[in-house]
Formats: sequence, C-alpha cells, structure tokens
Amino acid sequence: METSSRELEGRLATIFALANGRIGIRGTHEEMPTWASPGFYVAGTYSPGPREKLVELHPEYHILAHPLRAGPDRRNRYNELVTMPNFPYPLCVRLSVGGRTISLDEAAILSCERVLRMDQARLCRRLVLRDREGRRTVVDSERFADWADTRLLVWRYEAAADGHDADISVLPFFECNVSNAFGCRMFEVERRQSDGRLNVLCLRYGRPRRTMAMAQAWTVTRSRRRIRMDVFVAVCDTADEAVAVAGRALEAGYDSRLRSHCLVVEQAARRVGSEVGCGFLARQGFRFGIQHLEMALCRDRTDVSVPIKGLTGEGYRFMVFWDTDFHMFPYYLLTNPRQARNLLLYRHGILDAARRNAGKSGYRGAQVPWETGLTGDEETAPWLNLPEREIHISADVAMAVKRYVDWTGDTAFLLSHGAEIAFETARFYASRVEWNPRLREWEIRGVGCPDQYHTWADNNAFINRMARWNLEWAARLARMPALRPVLLRIGMTASEARRFASIAKALRTPSPGRDGVIEEFDGFFRLSPDIRGVSEFYCAHAQAVKQPDVLALYLPFRRELSRRTMQANFRFYEPRTLHGSSLSLPGMALAAALAGLVDRAADYFERGTRTDLDDLAGNTRLGVHLAGYAVLWSALVFGFGGLDLAGGGVRLAPALPQTWSHASFSFNWRHNRALVRLAHDEIEIAADDSNPGSIPVSIGGAGRVALAPGESRRYALGRKV
Ligand code: BGC
Repeated sequence: METSSRELEGRLATIFALANGRIGIRGTHEEMPTWASPGFYVAGTYSPGPREKLVELHPEYHILAHPLRAGPDRRNRYNELVTMPNFPYPLCVRLSVGGRTISLDEAAILSCERVLRMDQARLCRRLVLRDREGRRTVVDSERFADWADTRLLVWRYEAAADGHDADISVLPFFECNVSNAFGCRMFEVERRQSDGRLNVLCLRYGRPRRTMAMAQAWTVTRSRRRIRMDVFVAVCDTADEAVAVAGRALEAGYDSRLRSHCLVVEQAARRVGSEVGCGFLARQGFRFGIQHLEMALCRDRTDVSVPIKGLTGEGYRFMVFWDTDFHMFPYYLLTNPRQARNLLLYRHGILDAARRNAGKSGYRGAQVPWETGLTGDEETAPWLNLPEREIHISADVAMAVKRYVDWTGDTAFLLSHGAEIAFETARFYASRVEWNPRLREWEIRGVGCPDQYHTWADNNAFINRMARWNLEWAARLARMPALRPVLLRIGMTASEARRFASIAKALRTPSPGRDGVIEEFDGFFRLSPDIRGVSEFYCAHAQAVKQPDVLALYLPFRRELSRRTMQANFRFYEPRTLHGSSLSLPGMALAAALAGLVDRAADYFERGTRTDLDDLAGNTRLGVHLAGYAVLWSALVFGFGGLDLAGGGVRLAPALPQTWSHASFSFNWRHNRALVRLAHDEIEIAADDSNPGSIPVSIGGAGRVALAPGESRRYALGRKV
C-alpha cells in the first residue's frame, strides 16, 4: 500500500478513536493489515523511552533539535523522553474462510464503511471482502470503550458468507507486535495464557517497573452462513482482576453492556446540552470535538489530567499543557464541576514538583512545568527552550482554581488545596520579576510568548497581565483569616503578601495605546510588518503570531477591556495571525465573539470545527486537537451566549450569528444546572428540576430574577414573554 494510503489510515484511526478517559483505542482495522495504525493507551502509564525515536512526536521538534548531549549527569535529560506505551492492540481477529486466513493485504476490499455513532460513542464498520478464491464475505463489527465500566472494551464481530458455503471461523487475539511511533516498543510481555475462551496477557513497562494485565473473554455463536463473536476486554492492574472483570462482562452479555454504556453517554450529552444551528459540516465537527472532550476525561483518578490529545494518538507524548488548565478547564467546570475539581487535585498533587522546578532555576514558589505527566516533572523536550520561558502556565493554573471557586461556590476548596496553589504560583512570579530603576516598574523579561513565534521577549502582555492578576489575588486571599492555616503551612507571612500587592501595582502591563492596540511585548510594533515567508522556523523578526496572544486576554479580563479596544486589537492582530496552532481558529472565534464581531466569529468557529475531520493541521494522525474544541465551546457559551458568571450571579447577553438558526448549551452555577436555548428573537433558560437552589439570572440587561428548580423563562428582545 502507498505511503499516502498508510497516512490516510493513520488519520482515520485517530478520527475513529474511542476512549473512556481510562483507556483509549485507535479506530484501525481488527484484521491488522500491515498498513493498520493500531494504538492502545492507558491513562497515567507514562514511561521514559529513547529520545531519538520519540523526538518526532513533537511537532516543533526540528526547531532547535541538536545532537545528543550525553554526559553522566545529563544522560536521562537528553537521551530519554517520556510518553505512554502503545500497548498490545486488544481488538484483533484471525478471520478464516475455508480454512485460509484472510489478510486485508491480499483480499480485495470491495467496500469499507466506518461509522462513528456519536450518540453512542460506538464505532461500527462494514467490510465487504473478496478473497483469493473469489469468495465474498461481509464483515460487520462494532466496538465501544465502555463509559459505564472504564476498565472495559466491548467488541462484536460478525462475518457472513455471501454466495458461498465455505466454513468461516474467527479467533480473537492481542496484537503484541506493536510499537510506539517510530518503532520503539515500550512494554514487555511477562506472561501469556490462553484456553480457547479466554486470553490473558501480563505486561511490564516503565521505570521503575510497573505491571498491567489484560484479559479477553469471548463467546461465539453460529448460524448457517454467519458467525458472531462477542469479545470483552478488561484492562486492570492484575491478571486475576482482569479475568474477573472480563468474565462478569461476558456473563452480562453484549446488549446489556451496550445499554449501560449508552446510558452514561446519553447522560453526558444531556449534561453538556450544546448544539449549534449552523451547516452540517460545522455541526458535525463541533459534536465530534465535544465527544472527544468527554472521552478524554478520566473520571476515576485524581493523579492524571487530560492529556493534550486525550488517548487518541501519540502527538506531544500525552503531556498536559496550559491547554488543559486555561482552555479546556472552563468546559469541564461548567459541564461537570465535580470532575473539574479532580483536574485541580491533579495540579495540587504535583505542587512539590512545581516547587522543585522553580528551585532549579533559582526561583521560589511553584513554577508549573510547561509539559508534564504523572510525576509533575518538567517533560518538555529540553532543546526546545520552552520550559524556562513559557511561564504563563503557573498563572493559568491559579486562574483555573479561581474560576472553580467562583463558579461552584466551593470556598472550602481554597483552604484544602486552592489557596496553596494561588500563593505558591504568586511566589514564583514575585521571584521572577526584575526591577527596572529607570522606568520604576517591575518587569518580566526573557519569556516565551504564548504566541510561540517569539520565544524570547520582554513584558509580554498576556504573561504580565496574568502574573499581575495572580499576585493581586494571592495578596487578597492572604488577608482572609480562614486561610491563615495555609499561610502557616507554607511559611508565608503578611509582609510577603504585601509584597505581592506592591509588585502587582508596579508590574508593567502593556495597555491599549491611543489606537486601542495593546503591544504584544516590548518592541513588537518595531518588528518587520512584512510577514511574507514567515513560518515556525523563520518568525522572530516579524509582526506575525502563530496564535492570537493578546486576544487570549479577552475572556479573563473582558470586564476591563471595552468593546472598542477588543475590536481594535482583533483588527490589528487578525492579519498578523498565521494559525500555526490548532488553538488559533477557535481563539479567533472566541475573541471575535467577545468583541461583538459575531459573524466574523461564526466564520472562525465553523472553520475551527473541521480541524481534525479535514485534517487542517496535517497531523491528525498523531491525535485529535482537543483544546481547540474546548475553545470553540467557550466561543459558543461566553461569546454567542454572552454568559458571564462574575459578581455572584449569571448574566447572559446573547448574540447569535446571522447564518445560524439557533444554539444551545448548558452550564452549572453553584451546582445548579441550566439549559440555555438561543434563537434570533428569543432566549430561553430552563433550570433543572433537581437543582439544590435557585439561580440568579439577568438576561440582556434586564433585572435579575431567581430561577427556581424546574423553572424556565423566555425573553424576547430583552422582554420576558
Ligand atoms: C501551541 C501551544 C500549545 C501546544 C499544544 C502549540 O502549537 O502553540 O500553545 O500549548 O501546541 O497544544
């Protein structure tokens, strides 16, 4: 098969990937042709692997990749990178017709249809084959990564003779001959066992060595020309557990597992409640993105977070970036606040590593690593020079805490975990700033801009504003008597908190000029306006950005930025934004919507929805671009819906794009859920029956009303109808 077809299969295997937050399986063919793109990943299994093989998983790897710099103390840092193993692919079949194994490399594939049922998070496939003897066989298979029991994968495989009488047989197996991208295998098979109805595999991986077990239990039924196999795969810590879980699932049967899985999928769809009334392609892409956000969230662990591409592919080595805390967190928080809390517990659990990370460069407090996995160590490929300078991520994490506390009302979380994060991240910035005696201002120099085209700049607008906010918030929290125990625990004094406040006051924060435009960093306006030929490798000289950076300030600071300022910056940065990141189109959609440029926003929104389905970045084969979908959701909710949760209540100021017929979304405020439906002339908001309290809502500038559990209201042109 041609390379291009292999690549196509790589992309399709991502698009048809399924996951339940704990296990993720790429959607490749179960007959394992040589051009298949198998991938099977288990949350939290980060392990070190050889750098020379893993390096290319970083899309920016070639920027500064220099030869190995081995040395006794540097060995691990430069020779190894951390990723998750690609484990044996558990949904494989040996299909035989008339005693001969059918290989997809040899048989003619007369037709192949793969359908992702997004309403059920289930993949269905129909394959019509003609083997070398000219016999046609029709194969139907379907699978799901069980959302009701996240240890399980469930698979049905059915083959039927079409116009021949040859005997058909099927046998499941684990494909152990798999490796991570670029050929490195990151597990060892410790033991295999098979008894004709049960296959068990015990694996070792990682350093220090960890173990994992998988069991396949199956049942086969036959009718005259048809054979059906139902397979239940369990992934557990031990073989006994895996055998028991797979065995119980087998007893329950395929239909029963499917029912309980679908129930959870349906509950999630209701919980999220989002819909966009635009063209089919954008609707499809948006739904696809939301489903992936749900599939990526591990619901039963607090020591793992959402990897950058979920469990769908190996791009960026499953690391956790600011994408999760800054871009995805609002989605999880408003649709699933209890689980969102787990994402903060994850960050809190690795705070010590962030403290060590700051210490490494001589700073205090917590410098959240730019990319990290299970241990909280900085895992960014060291030659990228990003770890020391992408320092906005500490404030991004602190902001996730603030959003959580404000939107859920769970102030107890501050005492138990949140304030510690706020104080330690503020401490980091307080030690990172430098005094400029000439300007009598604090500055933050030598940073990597979030735009990622300018990786060495001073006083970046986004970073300095976020750091200032972090310092101010920490100073305010430090004055709360209830949080004294936290101060004592981390040895923070009142005078340190006062220092936070005074640094914040004098921290240089680029602000709108006379034309309303905010300079992205010192000297940006002096860079060349000629952006011809600019790319990731040739960019620092020019006024070009990979993704909008100043515009990312709109959502957190929209109260202080006038619409005029937002529009001025949008117009200035739009022609300078080259969309080198999948965060870019969605970021433009959100910024435009917040700036009131609704139809422009809709255009970016619709393009952004196609990121993976049309492979806009050319690397969908490495996994889906999760964070962009969350930003699209933000564009819908905060942009078109105009949702604003600041100030102890809920405000909605909707503006639907001209070309859309309607939109809807739901949100949680203080654990009260409401569904919002937008049309051009009307907005309806309905509170859940089961809400514990009422929701104070004000719509389109009208007075505030309390929405009781089960109550719904409709407004037309600012009037209630
Ligand atoms: C973006 C970063 C992002 C990373 C992972 C890069 O292309 O510039 O902002 O964190 O991808 O999504």
